Amino acid sequence: MTGAQPIAPTGITLQPEIPICQGDLPLDWYQEEFKPYAEEYIALSDRTPENVLPWLDSYIKPALDHFGESLLLLAHYYMGGEIVKLVERYGGKVADSYALALQASRNPEKKVIVESAVHFMAETIATLASDDQQVWITNPKAGCTMEMMAKDWMVKPIEDQLLAKYGDDLLVVAYMNTSGRIKALAGRTGGAVCTSSNAHLVVDWARKQNKKILFVPDEHLGRNTAAKLGMDLNKVVAFPNPLYEGIDWKLDELPGVDEAEMYLWGGFCGVHTVFTPEQVLWWKNKGWRVIIHPESRLEAVQLADGSGSTAYLWNEVMNSPAGSKIAVGTEGHFVRNLKEQAAFKGIQVAHLADITSEVTSVASSEVTSVASSEAGCGCATMSRNDPPHLAGMLDLLRKGEAPDLNLVLAGDTVDETTAKRERLTGSDRTRMVSDAKLALERMIQITESTS
Ligand code: SF4
Repeated sequence: MTGAQPIAPTGITLQPEIPICQGDLPLDWYQEEFKPYAEEYIALSDRTPENVLPWLDSYIKPALDHFGESLLLLAHYYMGGEIVKLVERYGGKVADSYALALQASRNPEKKVIVESAVHFMAETIATLASDDQQVWITNPKAGCTMEMMAKDWMVKPIEDQLLAKYGDDLLVVAYMNTSGRIKALAGRTGGAVCTSSNAHLVVDWARKQNKKILFVPDEHLGRNTAAKLGMDLNKVVAFPNPLYEGIDWKLDELPGVDEAEMYLWGGFCGVHTVFTPEQVLWWKNKGWRVIIHPESRLEAVQLADGSGSTAYLWNEVMNSPAGSKIAVGTEGHFVRNLKEQAAFKGIQVAHLADITSEVTSVASSEVTSVASSEAGCGCATMSRNDPPHLAGMLDLLRKGEAPDLNLVLAGDTVDETTAKRERLTGSDRTRMVSDAKLALERMIQITESTS
């Protein structure tokens, strides 16, 4: 299997005396095995590198020595600043979900892979891993709220209706932000996985087969992709949101179903759907460039100057000339890190939702007051991985005492509230892995053949 380019360092650095943490988690949020580490961390007098690093080193350095080259630390860009900075400091990699997915298969010498991000990302790495590679997540309760809107038991009954109606003429495209079980559904229908960086390539590939497409789970990425490809949006039908409207509905009750070319599952990301056309115009009117993630609403994306994956957003800013002013519409921790790093290059960055004064409504031309959202809409679930989780995971692994709950196998589902895990076994798991792998490999093939 081919792979993406090697992951380049973010260039993020720790600054002396500047706190590196996003805020502490309550002690009862930790698994029992992790509580001693959390207690020690909470007892540190502050969160500056001077205090945090010696404590972390005392656990992480022995683990690095113990595992040597067989250990790989991974984090997603959306992790709080400290994890992104710390993982790189200890030799790990920070990347978007596409590059993370490939890390086990392109680094066969890495036998112990520790991921600080959400569960579906770890599960995807595990799906493409060899039998002698283990994937661990520092907090198994770190779920993705979008993925939670497309559990297999929600999608399956609707997919069954579609298959009963259209049979082989239906193909499922599963966004990376899905469990392996949903990726397997895509594989079984001849479909593929996609990410925000290659969704247009994958949907284009599917359209060329003259199939109807079920795009799961992000309604907004699906619609933005359709618009990017010049599809007739009247032939793109959005399904009801499974959490708010349930799954007890009949396909034929929806208008436009038979004429539709693409069906959008009704999921969304709460972090990205806060962005509005008014916010985009507010920054543009001030002379700022606006770039935005395609999980945002179509109306905001279409007004922005550019749209793309986290890797696109990072590179777009960091490759801009000094003096540039760019408002970025995506996850808050990511924008905070980007803002910090871009400042070293003389580039000003703001979070798209951080507007503090009156704006004019795009639709009605009425002037309305829009509150600031300085909180920056961080991905709260992803940030359930923090320094005590990283220190604890590595120390427990070194001692051979890591909880089995943190070991991620393809097909695992974990309840984000109770941490109850359901693990597939035997032929169910073998079949699921094989189907999900097929969908992932199709994505890789489509992507790599056009790069
Ligand atoms: S930012 Fe949204 S889509 Fe991404 S992991 Fe968090 S909840 Fe999921």
